Amino acid sequence: MSTVLITGASRGIGAQCALAFAKAGCDVALNYCRSEEKALALIKEIQALGVRACAVRADVAESVQVKKMFEEIRTELGTVDVLVNNAGIAHVGLLTDMTDDEWRRLIDTDLSGTFYCCREALPDMIRAHSGVIVNIASMWGEVGASCEAAYSAAKAGVIGLTKALAKEVGPSGVRVNAVSPGVVMTDMMAGFSDEDVAALKEETPLIQLGTPENIADAVLFLASEKARFITGQVLSVNGGLVI
Ligand code: NAP
Repeated sequence: MSTVLITGASRGIGAQCALAFAKAGCDVALNYCRSEEKALALIKEIQALGVRACAVRADVAESVQVKKMFEEIRTELGTVDVLVNNAGIAHVGLLTDMTDDEWRRLIDTDLSGTFYCCREALPDMIRAHSGVIVNIASMWGEVGASCEAAYSAAKAGVIGLTKALAKEVGPSGVRVNAVSPGVVMTDMMAGFSDEDVAALKEETPLIQLGTPENIADAVLFLASEKARFITGQVLSVNGGLVI
């Protein structure tokens, strides 16, 4: 029985991942930052599936809070066998309009948060000579998006971190991969107009938008024994929009 930590699991892709791992019989630690009510409701849903679960509030952009979160999880559920670095924010706007604080907040959350969580999870994984990390990147980290330069840079950083860390900890029995979603209909897309969303759908070879389930399926696969010879890879789940 694995214990899985999913960051940013109160909503969207992270919440779906939490449900998917619970349905697969894993114990689930669910991290949230602001959406406490949603996180607690999801915990009830997950516990009803017969697995152990806990919700831990932490801002992944703050290394002290991340450290405390891992201590809480070790007490509640034991060591983390699978880490899914999903927590993330986006920022749409011209680079020239972006403030220092907006830049730092995005990089601290999307890139440094992934680093902090990997750093906390790895010692236990290395000791056990087993463990899996799945980082959630983005197609914009692969090819860059206009008006999303900071987000693209952070997600490109996540991809680089994934590839480097896979080499570093592979000999210790730990696999590190990334899932790179395309357009997925969650709160993160709320700022896009209906026309923009329709255009993105039309541009997608499979002529459909992604769902949180599409991403959770890929994360679950990479975390599973079926992916035991896969590490350092970026699995693009985008309907063919970026190839
Ligand atoms: P979402 O619906 O906006 O949910 C974001 C989640 O991240 C929430 O649970 C939020 O928690 C959490 N979060 C944000 N900042 C946090 C922080 N500092 N500490 C801890 N948790 C934090 O977004 P989503 O679409 O599910 O995105 C999930 C991941 O997929 C992100 O990394 C995103 O970049 C990536 N992605 C999404 C898309 C897409 O089209 N949706 C495409 C490519 C990649 P609270 O509400 O509790 O604060």
